[in-house]
Amino acid sequence: MQSNHNNTITLLGAGLVGSLLSIFLARRGFKVTIYERRPDMRNGGAGAGRSINLALSERGWRGLEKAGIAEEVKKIAIPMYGRMMHDTQGKLTYQPYGTAGQAIYSVSRSGLNMLLMDLAEKHGVQIHFDSRCQEVDLNANTLSVEINGQAIQAIQAEKIIGTDGAFSALRSAFQKSDRFDYQQFYIAHGYKELTIPPTVSGDFAMEEVNALHIWPRGHFMMIALPNPDKTFTCTLFFPFEGEPSFSSLKSDQQILGFFDQYFPDALRLMPDLLHEFKQNPSSSLVTVKCFPWAKGNVLLMGDAAHAIVPFYGQGMNCGFEDCREFDELLEKGLPMNELFEIFQKQRKPNADAIAELALRNFIEMRDLVADERFLLRKKIEARMNELFGEDWIPLYTMVTFRDDIPYSTALRKGQEHDRLFDRYMDTLGNIKNVTEKDIDQMAWQIMADVKTQNSQV
Ligand SMILES: Cc1cc2nc3c(=O)[nH]c(=O)nc-3n(C[C@H](O)[C@H](O)[C@H](O)COP(=O)(O)OP(=O)(O)OC[C@H]3O[C@@H](n4cnc5c(N)ncnc54)[C@H](O)[C@@H]3O)c2cc1C
Repeated sequence: MQSNHNNTITLLGAGLVGSLLSIFLARRGFKVTIYERRPDMRNGGAGAGRSINLALSERGWRGLEKAGIAEEVKKIAIPMYGRMMHDTQGKLTYQPYGTAGQAIYSVSRSGLNMLLMDLAEKHGVQIHFDSRCQEVDLNANTLSVEINGQAIQAIQAEKIIGTDGAFSALRSAFQKSDRFDYQQFYIAHGYKELTIPPTVSGDFAMEEVNALHIWPRGHFMMIALPNPDKTFTCTLFFPFEGEPSFSSLKSDQQILGFFDQYFPDALRLMPDLLHEFKQNPSSSLVTVKCFPWAKGNVLLMGDAAHAIVPFYGQGMNCGFEDCREFDELLEKGLPMNELFEIFQKQRKPNADAIAELALRNFIEMRDLVADERFLLRKKIEARMNELFGEDWIPLYTMVTFRDDIPYSTALRKGQEHDRLFDRYMDTLGNIKNVTEKDIDQMAWQIMADVKTQNSQV
């Protein structure tokens, strides 16, 4: 497992991706040093307090397994087997994510980050906190790091990997270099995190714990994921401007009136809503695309290379997949510069694909999950997957529950599925009172169409 070289690697950022990557590198015998802008959150500083969670799925688990740490993470993860949709009357509709037993997992962002940092240090990784990288000289391979908000230290590095997130300092250096393509755009919506606390008796306030709760409302939506401390973290995805929006809800009355109109069942469970709504930031959602990710001895990875919107719950999972594929290349014993080249060529189409899928899934989550045709399509697709296995894998399953189907393949197949279903659903009349038998028949008919189509190609 260990390699013979004594190479050193410097990482920027001990976030989720940087911490996991450092474990992979240390396991292969590299001496790894990380410079992290924030104080150590394990001492109770910024980021450690509030429960903010993420959905961890197959690609993420596969990365953690390869690093040998999945079992540790399982201990702090809560499975969510499906979506629980809440309508404006508080009526609930449940939709399983995949087949029986398939789940995505709610994990605390800070809990996972702290665990990864602990494990990285156990592997000999050295993390310098309160160390903000200000500049990188790509020609000299030097970093300027501000320590504790004061002294600037110049650091000579052999290889540098920027895992410093969506607003990467390393990427800023790339932006000043020649032939670097860069694009960033914000969507009109932002997000605000809110909490559903436990009941007075200390239980979860919503009965269905093992589900991702969604309140789809057309132009906006709210979701909630469970935490081990029996709270749910809610995230309201909401426009910054317009009616209603973050800017239109100013008074207490407006905020309460809005929640009462659109999320009445949740409002009853949020005693601290007003305080949280006014106190917690309204944060923006950015997509970043750039290329190349590698220049000489320097590489970008994770959000620094490809920040995406969170609607497929894949940003971290994609970053963990970056780490695993990087490790698979290390396993081949390639020289590092060659490895950087192969890595970026391999990952870029997949990062672009998940960026697009994530943007599209916003529309699915906020509009379609409440739409009868969409729910029927989901049922037919689930049945097709049961009946035909590998011959019909729904898009959500390809993205979330498979680690052997690249995101770019999932995107292409998903588009083919859309074309087929758009045609098919147009031929259906009244879709009320559809029975299991009807769904079976539809599944067989669609598959017959696919087979005919394939035989004509
Ligand atoms: C609201 C929301 C919900 C999300 N939900 C999910 C989800 O359910 N599932 C999922 O897979 N993904 C989700 N994501 C995406 C996920 O959070 C990111 O993809 C993931 O955090 C990327 O990890 P990273 O390590 O690349 O970047 P980050 O987690 O941003 O870490 C970057 C690190 O670099 C440090 N840093 C930054 N600048 C410097 C500097 N100049 N010098 C030194 N250190 C620096 C930062 O302090 C930080 O520790 C969500 C994102 C958002 C915004």
